[in-house]
Amino acid sequence: MPVICQLKSVRKDYPMGDLTVTALRDVSVEIHAGEFTVFSGPSGSGKSTALNLIGCLDRPSAGSVMLEGRDVATLGDEALGAVRARRIGFIFQSFNLIPVLTAYENVELALRLAGVKDGRDARVKKALNDVGLGEYLDRRPAQLSGGQQQRVAIARALVKQPAIVIADEPTANLDSTNGAAILAIMKEMNTRAGVTFLFSTHDPDVVAQARRIVTLHDGLLVNDTSRPRAS
Ligand code: ADP
Ligand code: MG
Repeated sequence: MPVICQLKSVRKDYPMGDLTVTALRDVSVEIHAGEFTVFSGPSGSGKSTALNLIGCLDRPSAGSVMLEGRDVATLGDEALGAVRARRIGFIFQSFNLIPVLTAYENVELALRLAGVKDGRDARVKKALNDVGLGEYLDRRPAQLSGGQQQRVAIARALVKQPAIVIADEPTANLDSTNGAAILAIMKEMNTRAGVTFLFSTHDPDVVAQARRIVTLHDGLLVNDTSRPRAS
């Protein structure tokens, strides 16, 4: 399968006054279309930093980030914003829905920002149906449970038909039942629709669900293991 994104010898430093925190050191990794990959590792190991770089939310201090064959460094901030809006779906630990918008409006906004003009209504309804929220289009986030809010976030990420969906600790704010349900939805979208997922967690039960496990430790990539697709 084609390579969707790639970190090549990436280093990321965060300046902290007189000090520098190095969050990633010489990390190289390729993500292929159709993969279901987890970045695992303890808190502080660099998972979010790596996901933010792949998601074009930040730029590396050294090395390069390639997305769909393009070096992200060649893109200005505006072009990078457009890539983010069109090609990358994000799911966050804290859902990050807009409180004053309904589920429908939250999902539709993603399509507007991606510049999609035609067929929005059908796409929004299908995306929310696909995550089991067809009956909740008019609810605001506060009227939904945490698990339901995260489903809206999944619909918002998927409605754009992005090249990759990046999920940073998507189950960390959910109880284990809701967390398992969210993971099951992601896995089904991967198997059924071929959506490429890259997520992070430090929860061993969640790690166990991934097909490819990339392990980070103190900013170093220390292990990269794949197992065959379950039949
Ligand atoms: P993880 O997601 O695995 O918990 P992070 O990528 O958030 O790890 O953090 C990796 C390291 O970088 C940690 O030491 C963290 O404190 C540091 N770090 C992350 N973001 C920043 C930032 N914006 N400024 C300074 N240090 C940061
Ligand atoms: Mg993190």
